[in-house]
Amino acid sequence: MMDSLETMNRNLEELVRERTIDLHEKAAELERANAKLRRLDSLKSAFLSSVSHELRTPLTSIMGFVKLTRREFEKICAEAASPALTGAHDRIAENLEIVAGESEHLMFLINDVLDVSDMESGKAPWLDARIDPAEFIRRGAALVGPVLLDNPDIHYEEDLEDDLPMVRADPDRLAQVMQNLLSNAAKFSERGRVRVTARRADGGVRITVEDTGKGIAPEELENVFDMFHQVSRRDGLSDKPEGTGLGLAICRLVVEHYGGTIIAESRPGKGSVFTMDLPVRGGASDKEA
Ligand code: ADP
Repeated sequence: MMDSLETMNRNLEELVRERTIDLHEKAAELERANAKLRRLDSLKSAFLSSVSHELRTPLTSIMGFVKLTRREFEKICAEAASPALTGAHDRIAENLEIVAGESEHLMFLINDVLDVSDMESGKAPWLDARIDPAEFIRRGAALVGPVLLDNPDIHYEEDLEDDLPMVRADPDRLAQVMQNLLSNAAKFSERGRVRVTARRADGGVRITVEDTGKGIAPEELENVFDMFHQVSRRDGLSDKPEGTGLGLAICRLVVEHYGGTIIAESRPGKGSVFTMDLPVRGGASDKEA
């Protein structure tokens, strides 16, 4: 009896020893895979950053030359009373307009890609200031401009609690987050209401941007924060949405940089709500005197 107990014990010990060795090997394997992923990720960021820089220089020159060509072309057309030129004028002017518009779109895309790769690689500069949330919310709305503020089809409302706690963050980055959220709300609503609220919440500030637009399908709610993800493009609709598909990825990177969260909720066909919770850091919770 004693003998069999001892044998069982030895077998068990042997088994535990083997399993422990197995586990160590698996952990080392995981660590190696992890290191490889980290290397690939930093290669991806370096690649994105250098390609974007390389693209920006020729694109800036294309944009400059298109502007120059348009100006000179208009001048020649105004001076020369040639029927052939008059006939071609509208077509050429329209083509130049398209080149200018597409170049501008490409420039937005390149700048957004650079922004994301700088933030991901830790190269992006972050200002550190104490700011009133109402300030960066209003600045974000002003940056969106007429599409939101003077748009007869969009009713824009702000409901901001008085004496919100000051937030310690980069004011430009938070204004950029608000600009992205508000311009999406206006863009995907076409007509309706866009409402922004700000309240004190759990040691921080909760900001919501709500619209009465087309909404987002439940299975897309998390994907919209992925880089380059644009819902209607994947649906195969012909009306390709304007934008780069990077706005919400940037919003999440900024908000998470400050230890906050941002989520999307929606009732498709009825509208969407983006909720951002920003913690108040480093004793900055009091309103500036
Ligand atoms: P962009 O607006 O440049 O396409 P974003 O990252 O800001 O990129 O948004 C990604 C996608 O999420 C959009 O293309 C759109 O499909 C969806 N989306 C974002 N905001 C809204 C909104 N308020 N209502 C409906 N869909 C939205």
